[in-house]
Amino acid sequence: MSQELLVSEMFISILGEGVYVGNPAAFVRLYGCNAKCDFCDTKYAWDASEGKGMRVTVDEVAKWIKSTNLGTVVFTGGEPTLQVAALRALCQAVWGFTYNRIIETNGSTIDKFPDCLMTVSPKQGMPFVRKEGFELKIVYPLEGVDPLKLEEGTAFNYYSIQPLDVPDEKKRQANRDACVKFVLANPEWRLSVQVHKILGCR
Ligand code: SF4
Repeated sequence: MSQELLVSEMFISILGEGVYVGNPAAFVRLYGCNAKCDFCDTKYAWDASEGKGMRVTVDEVAKWIKSTNLGTVVFTGGEPTLQVAALRALCQAVWGFTYNRIIETNGSTIDKFPDCLMTVSPKQGMPFVRKEGFELKIVYPLEGVDPLKLEEGTAFNYYSIQPLDVPDEKKRQANRDACVKFVLANPEWRLSVQVHKILGCR
């Protein structure tokens, strides 16, 4: 019997943010998160009042990923790295038929996931201990969050800044403007826009 994962949902879509934006991908959203961000888009993946996880074996998830015939898989959440042993087993299980295995994490855990691309998005009030990986992605602007401070002592292939999404259009535009200004002043950083929201995708 293979290990079980607590899963919120599995679906196919395009990658809406980060370096691989536009790539078709299989998404596995794991249930549970150790942060409770106000602006979280996916509260249903950790808030028991909004949703709950389903137990699925590693073999079943791997079989589904294979059936999508997509070479890119994104493990997201919630905070997927909290299920370290089962997620490692899943990454191994899909290694032969995927070429991009992306793990989206808030950077508060340090466990290694060999042959995976770690996309780290640190959150307010959470320890930021995963200092290396594929991409550092900062939601901006947020009170008390200084991307240049977070960058110190890190080693990522890419550094991205992403406008904080808020309901108020004026504030949303101000956040976009702040990100553009930041990138122009710090050209080693790149802008990440949540394209899936513009397209109306998941
Ligand atoms: S870390 Fe991510 S998934 Fe967890 S509450 Fe914050 S935004 Fe939501």
